[in-house]
Amino acid sequence: MINIPKGTKDVLPSESYKWQYVENIARETAELFHLKEIRTPVFEHTELFQRGVGDTSDIVTKEMYTFKDKGDRSITLKPEGTAGAVRSFIENGMGNGVLPAKMYYIIPAFRYERPQAGRLREFHQFGVEIFGAKGAQTDAEAVLAADTLLKKLGLKVQLYINSIGCPACRAAYNQALKAFFAPHLDGLCYDCKTRYEKNPLRLLDCKEEGCKRVNADAPKMLDYLCEACKAHFDEFKNYLELAGVSYEIDPRIVRGLDYYTRTVFEFVSTSIGAQGTVCAGGRYDKLIEELGGNPTPAVGFAAGIERLLIVMQQTGVDIPQPKTPTVYLAGMDGECRKKAFELCAALRRNGVFAELDHMERSVKAQFKYADKIGAKFVAVIGGNELAEGAMNVKNMATGESERVALEDAVVYFQNK
Ligand code: ATP
Ligand code: MG
Repeated sequence: MINIPKGTKDVLPSESYKWQYVENIARETAELFHLKEIRTPVFEHTELFQRGVGDTSDIVTKEMYTFKDKGDRSITLKPEGTAGAVRSFIENGMGNGVLPAKMYYIIPAFRYERPQAGRLREFHQFGVEIFGAKGAQTDAEAVLAADTLLKKLGLKVQLYINSIGCPACRAAYNQALKAFFAPHLDGLCYDCKTRYEKNPLRLLDCKEEGCKRVNADAPKMLDYLCEACKAHFDEFKNYLELAGVSYEIDPRIVRGLDYYTRTVFEFVSTSIGAQGTVCAGGRYDKLIEELGGNPTPAVGFAAGIERLLIVMQQTGVDIPQPKTPTVYLAGMDGECRKKAFELCAALRRNGVFAELDHMERSVKAQFKYADKIGAKFVAVIGGNELAEGAMNVKNMATGESERVALEDAVVYFQNK
């Protein structure tokens, strides 16, 4: 017996309608915001993520699924969606086309994490990226797309926003952070000691309780923003207000990926604890350049589909049940069963959701099965019916039956 790998999950046929529901609403939302789908490979060259996600991020330092392929190339399974979208944007010269380039994706993502509720090694993201627009209006547009999705899904969430400035103003901030953390270094976790040296901003993203306590009093990036970044943040807030999206400023949000500039945001469910961040994103004006493209401003976000589903489940959001068959065709024996098969094929050809027995059950057992799968009608074809060219149709809700000619079957069920 071979088991599923740790940190992964099967989506069973009986549960997949919930996923489809979320994915359909994600696609619907994307369409509403004029976002077109992009599909990129599940794996990319490792270097893309090292440069794109950043080599001081947790993802790159600890979480990537990296392996050598048979051609001795270092390959990594996508840990997130932005780097691949940016690679494609550059490689396909989308920057020379009509801007902004607005796109979305639904992808599996892979991170070697400690599995727990809402934290998997293979998980799924709905992501949005908008390339080419530098104004704060577009940051608000990204937030609005996420907000629309979450509302359509019936989730109660709080939006937290922050600005982490640009490389210019962040330099002074990093100095201030280092000065603040220096006397606390001994009490910080092992990782934070490295972060202190390599990327002090990362210190604020630590999830260790001890580090979090120290972080609470750390200087705030918002106090260090340069004039341009401050104006951008003010405009961003103003656009959110115009769109009627309420927000709270959380000066501790820095995000787990290295590529962000200026705006960062997170949507947190108010109903679950630890893994409550269902959606997160921000602006990444330096990433395209970093990956070899022409300087291009960009903003995006990603929502974790498993987390959305957990929150929906925990808050009792009603997910519509999948459709059940309009009609179940019950054949009595040999010839009748063949007729049922033939009729079933004709009904499906004409778009009627029909099902029939595959298990050689008795008519009685077929009725029981039809009831179990929620068939609205059961059409019995027995010897008499076959001779008459008819079927006996039972409405499973009312219990009423009527005789219907086989030649009228398609029209009859098309209207049910
Ligand atoms: P966290 O702080 O929870 O580790 P993150 O900052 O690493 O999250 P992002 O890289 O921003 O997360 O990914 C966007 C979204 O994807 C998250 O808000 C979350 O909903 C989801 N997500 C991230 N990692 C996982 C995971 N291991 N399992 C399930 N969902 C995840
Ligand atoms: Mg993480």
